[in-house]
Amino acid sequence: MGSFWKPGSERPTYRPSVAFRGDEEFPLGLFEDSSHLSIEKRRHKHPIYKHRHELLYLVKAHAVTVVIGETGCGKTTQLPQYLSEAGWAEGGRLIACTQPRRIAAQTVALRVAEEMGVSVGAEVGYSIRFEEVTTPGKTRIKFLTDGVLIREMMADPLLSKYSVIMVDEAHERSVTTDVLLGLLKKIQKRRPELRVIIASATMDATNVAAFFDTSAEKFKASAAKESLPDRTPGMISVEGRSHSVRVHYSIEPVPSYLLASVSTTLSIHKLEPPGDILLFLTGQDDVDAAVQLLTTEAEQLPRKSTGLVVLPLYAGLSRADQELVFRPAPQGRRKVIVSTNIAETSVTIPGIVYVIDSGFSKQRFYNPLTDVDALVVAPISRASAEQRAGRAGRMRPGKCFRLYSEDTYCNDMKAETIPEIQRSNLVSTVLQLKALGIDNIMRFDWLAPPSSEAMIRALELLFAIGVLDTDAKLTPLGHQVAEFPLEPMMAKMLLSSNSYSCSPEAVTIAAMLSVQSIWVSSKGRQKELDDARDSFAVVEGDHVTYLNVYESFLRAKQSPQWCHQHLINYQAMKTVVDVRKQLSRLLQQLGFSLKSCDGDTKCILKAVTAGFFAHAAELEPSGDSYKLVRGGQRMYIHPSSVLFRTTPKWVVFHSVMVTERMYMREVAVTDSDWLFEVAPHYFDRRRRSHTLG
Ligand code: ADP
Ligand code: MG
Repeated sequence: MGSFWKPGSERPTYRPSVAFRGDEEFPLGLFEDSSHLSIEKRRHKHPIYKHRHELLYLVKAHAVTVVIGETGCGKTTQLPQYLSEAGWAEGGRLIACTQPRRIAAQTVALRVAEEMGVSVGAEVGYSIRFEEVTTPGKTRIKFLTDGVLIREMMADPLLSKYSVIMVDEAHERSVTTDVLLGLLKKIQKRRPELRVIIASATMDATNVAAFFDTSAEKFKASAAKESLPDRTPGMISVEGRSHSVRVHYSIEPVPSYLLASVSTTLSIHKLEPPGDILLFLTGQDDVDAAVQLLTTEAEQLPRKSTGLVVLPLYAGLSRADQELVFRPAPQGRRKVIVSTNIAETSVTIPGIVYVIDSGFSKQRFYNPLTDVDALVVAPISRASAEQRAGRAGRMRPGKCFRLYSEDTYCNDMKAETIPEIQRSNLVSTVLQLKALGIDNIMRFDWLAPPSSEAMIRALELLFAIGVLDTDAKLTPLGHQVAEFPLEPMMAKMLLSSNSYSCSPEAVTIAAMLSVQSIWVSSKGRQKELDDARDSFAVVEGDHVTYLNVYESFLRAKQSPQWCHQHLINYQAMKTVVDVRKQLSRLLQQLGFSLKSCDGDTKCILKAVTAGFFAHAAELEPSGDSYKLVRGGQRMYIHPSSVLFRTTPKWVVFHSVMVTERMYMREVAVTDSDWLFEVAPHYFDRRRRSHTLG
């Protein structure tokens, strides 16, 4: 690994360390261990506690309060409790705290319920897509994803049951956070008494505060004007409890961040004093790979008592596995958490002293010219790198090992991450805003406006699938599509399934594609996994294969042993069963019959085609690649597809993965006649743009 600090080398060849924040070194003995204290006492130890009164005053006095505070200072877990204690949840009102990620909404709700000594779902609950754990009339604090809160606006446009809405992790600037902020600003014009709290882990929140400063705008005269809060946002900054973090850079770029991260972990374990390690990788696949490698290495360590406890952390983790991450390692052992970006700011793991930063994360990139929307492993920004390093200084002075050079940090990394709204496909966002009655999307009050190319692409697609009419108004079908908590093309597939008499099958497919993965993660057992998948494979492609898996699961009476035998994730299948119920209920509410096609796969493929025709691709004469009808991009079938190594003339696919090539994932066989049948307007044979062969 070049001149990167080699594991086991005599003296680690650290570069002169770069001070990260403050340079004071604290003798370790100065730090008290508070684990023996009661939860109540511990709660008073959070840095935010000192600001409790000021915070409550600001929230009372201002319509919007911006809270800036280091990750771990207590914003997410404490603030909602302060609000509840101060009476904001009296009279049946609710306090909402939004999170960009499902896993964060869940873990934080569990933590707060524990602190309050209640069971989750009672006074403290959470609501994420397909999973609502609250008790109406009882729940006071509700953690939910910002996407779910936006969806709630469809039934309750002014979010009238909430007294305070805290938009957490605002620095992340996810698409849904940005949209939510715009919507909340709109709601406050009608509900001036609604309090909004914007919580951010980075200092640069002035733009958000400026965005919410409506003091100069004229509001409609209100009867009790004096009692209304100030429309200039209040701002407060909570100092963290962070200690110095020494940052070490790799002297030369590392050839593989995965291998470098493994060897760096082992070196820390060998050379550094006790303290847990947090390793930042990009996605479930490389997290699993690193866990596998480290577990193998850990087993070979001489004395078990000084061993490593290696744990993964990513969004799709089961709740039991999530809880493991927060539990202290057994006496004398060192915990290594291998995580995606989740641990950057969303969840705080106690005990971390060392951080290893790969310098990469999975990011969404959308190209409106090719209309390809993909998750790509890309370099993080300097702001992200600082956040990651900061995770090491929560408990005592820590160290951060960056697997990239200082030169890369200074010259190649962007200062800030571009807001996701400016690098995303906007199809779902536009549909959602339209469903909320916001007709002029271009003039929506954006915190950062998306590109007009992306907007036009989204409008084009929504028009093509019949969701918008020529005046860009929602069609009756569009209203139905918007009812589903699914991507518009998936919802269109469901709604079309009625005409092909295969709704139960389409519901299964939609549910299977809505969970992270139905296969157990098994890096290093790829061959076994391929064999397991191949035992269900059918020539029609991945969608019908999924259906086959589900039906086999039912025939096996939903047995966990059966799942185990076939390398299928039992928990994921239980989720599928649950999601199926919810989607079926929605279809029934719309008056659809749930009539099965009894194995007529042609019907199923037609329904899939009706939803995903805009993702149609034709085999190129070379016979190994495909050409995307829309955009003309060259695509390949991903090796994880059952159609890999086969060459159907026409296919439709669900998602794209970009590495050195563009891969189609979840691919189904289709036919040019069917494409014409389901979307004659789109595949008009006389039109030059989307001609069918
Ligand atoms: P913030 O939102 O400001 O980043 P949090 O409210 O999430 O901070 O966390 C405050 C503190 O509570 C953390 O520093 C950590 O010590 C503790 N904490 C949070 N979640 C958990 C958990 N699930 N288990 C144990 N401790 C936790
Ligand atoms: Mg937080």
